[in-house]
Amino acid sequence: MSELAGLIRPDLQGRTPYGAPQLAVPVALNTNESSYDVPPEVVDAISAAVTAEAAHLNRYPDREFVRLRERLAAYVHRTTGCPVSAEQVWAGNGSNEVLQHVVQAFGGPGRVALGFTPSYSMHPIISEGIGTTWVDGLRGRDPGRFDVDADLAVEQVQRHDPDVVFLCSPNNPTGTSLDLSVVERVYEAAPHSVVVVDEAYAEFARPGTPSAVSLLPGRPRLVVTRTMSKAFAFAGVRLGYLAADTEFTDLMRLVRLPYHLSSVTQAIACAALDHADLMLATVEAVKQTRDELVSGCMALGLVPVPSDANFVLVGGFADERASWQALLDRGVLVRDVGIRHHLRITAGTPAENAAVLDALRVVTEGESA
Ligand SMILES: *Cc1c(COP(=O)(O)O)cnc(C)c1O
Repeated sequence: MSELAGLIRPDLQGRTPYGAPQLAVPVALNTNESSYDVPPEVVDAISAAVTAEAAHLNRYPDREFVRLRERLAAYVHRTTGCPVSAEQVWAGNGSNEVLQHVVQAFGGPGRVALGFTPSYSMHPIISEGIGTTWVDGLRGRDPGRFDVDADLAVEQVQRHDPDVVFLCSPNNPTGTSLDLSVVERVYEAAPHSVVVVDEAYAEFARPGTPSAVSLLPGRPRLVVTRTMSKAFAFAGVRLGYLAADTEFTDLMRLVRLPYHLSSVTQAIACAALDHADLMLATVEAVKQTRDELVSGCMALGLVPVPSDANFVLVGGFADERASWQALLDRGVLVRDVGIRHHLRITAGTPAENAAVLDALRVVTEGESA
């Protein structure tokens, strides 16, 4: 062990960082980004917003990002049908930072966070990064299914008495949505806990999938996190947000660094939110591509999990690591999420979908040969 490695906090020794490969490949479908560029009209609006900000970059940004919060509140209202005030919204550099704020405020050393695995790998990394004990809960008793079993979730919440509970809907990496009754039951079963519902993929859900934002009234310990990185097709900007009780958002000020959202970030996000229709224009196309990816995989004898997100978890690989490499050898980068026999594939453009299905055809033929 190097001298430095010996000095790091004992609970961080030997850990590996978050590490989705960033490789220059023709077809990159491994981090659930949008494959569609920002539309030219929005590019112009962004350029103008940055120019207007440039001369004032000698000053710190608006620490309370009021204009941005108003726009995010309007966006949440519009995409969920639930009225939310600007004071109920909090934002950060990606929803990862927002999640970190939540854990900084409610988790930490001597405290416990519970999630239901497989789910978003950053929930434990963020929790443990600030000394919170992570408990890997079970989603269900049948390893071939990925729905959260409500009774089992309640049982685990009661057993571990966590300070923070993570739910994720639609869930990464499985694509499955949660019934709101699961959120309600977990909330009731955990009277000392903040309950986080990570809705990073909410805009891709199939019709009739309600948002947990509708459960906020009367639930001061509930928080719903969202992001501009996925459906909003704006991952490079790093802007995530949450909706919760106004008292909850107020508490986030205790842990955020001063001026954490730069003037440029705020201006760019506002400009894009003013063109939300254009930014969301490809969501329907992505949903269609996703559904075609599901049917295409089924036709190849693979076992895709029905998805409410912009990706599909595909089972049926004899050796997922070998298949991951074989796909990469054909210029297609997908994600090995550590679930045996499964790979996660982002829904990209129709051309990317055709490329991944072509590559899968060759790879699966090779496997059965
Ligand atoms: C991609 C993703 C996020 C988004 O992170 P950002 O920091 O907003 O880019 C959050 N939660 C889940 C489950 C995700 O898959």
